[in-house]
Amino acid sequence: MLNQRKIFLHDRIGFVEYLGHLGDDLTVVNSARVSFGKTSEKLTEKDKRLIKYLYEHKHWTPFSHVLFQFRIKMPFFVARQWFRHQIGLSRNEISRRYVKEEPDFFVPDYFRVNADNIKQGSLDEKNVKNDYFVAKLIEQYKASLELYNEMLQNNIPAEQARVVLPMGAYTEFIESASLAAYMRIYTLRVSKDAQKETSQYIKAIFEFIGEYCPVSFGLIK
Ligand SMILES: Cc1cc2nc3c(=O)[nH]c(=O)nc-3n(C[C@H](O)[C@H](O)[C@H](O)COP(=O)(O)OP(=O)(O)OC[C@H]3O[C@@H](n4cnc5c(N)ncnc54)[C@H](O)[C@@H]3O)c2cc1C
Repeated sequence: MLNQRKIFLHDRIGFVEYLGHLGDDLTVVNSARVSFGKTSEKLTEKDKRLIKYLYEHKHWTPFSHVLFQFRIKMPFFVARQWFRHQIGLSRNEISRRYVKEEPDFFVPDYFRVNADNIKQGSLDEKNVKNDYFVAKLIEQYKASLELYNEMLQNNIPAEQARVVLPMGAYTEFIESASLAAYMRIYTLRVSKDAQKETSQYIKAIFEFIGEYCPVSFGLIK
């Protein structure tokens, strides 16, 4: 069992907070066994083999009956990728039309270096000019924030003032999604060509999923 219900990322500003779930590995099994009018009361070795069979043969609907709900805080540039995943996921997000509080900003653990293969995006190596660019980034965030606050103080509505907020600002949302949807995101976003910051979020989500659906979790790991 996890002791924490919230996994922090990125300097403890970003997070994935578990809110609840419906179903587990047995739900996957029974959603499939209903085809034969059967139900399992307890997960057996045969049931575990069935889950593996369903996954390997792309019978995804039994995995769509297990649902998870999270509150997630991530930078906009990650959310831009995250929100491309749509089928089997529902979201409600904080509105920067109504909320005028200063947002938090993402500062990377370190800036990486380019990969030779452009599709891979980056190599996980610290850039030699990291410290210089982290300082410049923070300067840039402060300037954006100053202008944002000045606009609000001068009666410019938040829905327009937000245009000065950068991609590194954080957003927050509640997401409810099926296990099937999260398995798809994991496959797509924990790969060599996926962005590290986005992979970190789906890995955090699977820390919770692994607790309730260890068999399904074991298949994608
Ligand atoms: C490493 C990586 C790089 C990427 N680079 C880019 C990029 O450069 N530019 C860009 O625009 N996007 C990019 N994407 C986003 C990508 O194209 C998908 O939009 C994203 O991965 C969501 O995929 P999904 O299968 O979860 O989508 P969902 O929309 O959630 O769909 C889930 C599944 O439903 C089915 N489905 C959904 N819509 C339809 C439909 N209209 N017709 C038939 N079947 C459908 C498909 O089987 C699909 O896989 C990238 C994604 C990854 C992982």
